[in-house]
Amino acid sequence: MAPTIPLKTITVRGACPLDCPDTCATLTDVDLDTGRALKFYGDPDHPITQGWLCAKMRPYLERVYAPDRILHPLRRVGPKGGGEWERISWDEALGEISSRWKAIIAEDGPAAIYPYMYSGSLGLVELVVAATRFWNRLGASRPVGDLCDGAATEALAATVGGYLGADPRDVLHSKLVLLWAHNPSSTAPHFVPFLREAQRNGAKVVVIDPRRTITARSADQFVQIKPGTDGALALAMMNVMFEEGLADEAWLAANSVGWEELRGRAAEYPVERAAELTGAPAETIVALARELATTKPALVKVGHGVNRHQNGGQTVRLLASLPAVAGQMGLRGGGVYLSTSGHARWDGNSVTHAADCPPAPRELNIVQLGANLTGAVSDPPIRSLFVFSTNPVATVPDSGRIVEGLLREDLFTVVHEQF
Ligand code: SF4
Repeated sequence: MAPTIPLKTITVRGACPLDCPDTCATLTDVDLDTGRALKFYGDPDHPITQGWLCAKMRPYLERVYAPDRILHPLRRVGPKGGGEWERISWDEALGEISSRWKAIIAEDGPAAIYPYMYSGSLGLVELVVAATRFWNRLGASRPVGDLCDGAATEALAATVGGYLGADPRDVLHSKLVLLWAHNPSSTAPHFVPFLREAQRNGAKVVVIDPRRTITARSADQFVQIKPGTDGALALAMMNVMFEEGLADEAWLAANSVGWEELRGRAAEYPVERAAELTGAPAETIVALARELATTKPALVKVGHGVNRHQNGGQTVRLLASLPAVAGQMGLRGGGVYLSTSGHARWDGNSVTHAADCPPAPRELNIVQLGANLTGAVSDPPIRSLFVFSTNPVATVPDSGRIVEGLLREDLFTVVHEQF
């Protein structure tokens, strides 16, 4: 028998809420009578994501309607970590949280309460409203710091003025693309069709990476370097450009500050030294520098991995400076591209109302959760942890210490999750 097709459906426009720069445009068909989503798919009319969703999101309705979703509050009844829970009502849950927090606030103040969240969902409601307004008003400790791209954000702001990059479609104008520590076939799927078209139009694609990635297999050239030596390679390439008169010094003099100091620093990295540090052959480094300085426009597209090494921020600064030295800034299809996040603007205070609230009593770095739960902060100690939009035991460094902290009998932990 053919399935019954509801007569009244609407199609709701949306965007993928996962922590992914592609932000795919989505469509959801909803049965108006039951309110149930019937079909979830990519919006074919979006100019960049073009109706293609990755494997994480294609079965999204299976996640939404999964039978093991947690749809009501649970209270632990056995020892911590024992996995025994009882179902309670929302009134009971909210009442218990409220009374426990009032007692903590009366004894130690609201700073003893620590909300802990990250980018499980990047929607404004969950990430910005839920992560700020209530906690600001409560006066809880404020989570600060970054697990992902904090160093790159600061580095690009200091170098090019913001977390800004080229329009991904501009690669169609590029004649040379350096994919630096970047594996778009795995991590930026919507950039790949544009990259392939650029290749078909004659652009040369060079992958610089410690690993021969999937993207490297389809590149025109693969330059393998040792992990953490990207800065040395960039400085050596700049040095070649300065020494051979290929650097765009007129542009640098007119549009930048500090370039002469950068030239001096680059001189400390002659190609032989860089070859030894990076493992890339000296002649490859020289050829790459010449090619980048003489092929216009050329794009340096950078992955996030470099910003997670020691000196990650300074490495990103060098990779952002490299196309400037090569005279690639301001050219369509040229320049540096790590992220386009900075192009999205909204009035943050109208969402967070942070300006209406007193300053947070203290800031706690999210990366130090394990230490902070086990004695690194004591005035007051963290007595309650409210976790949402993240799973710190799986995603934050020093997970053993985090578990040790979570097992503290005196820690009142609330987790708001889907499963
Ligand atoms: S590629 Fe996947 S995770 Fe990224 S925005 Fe699209 S559907 Fe979401």
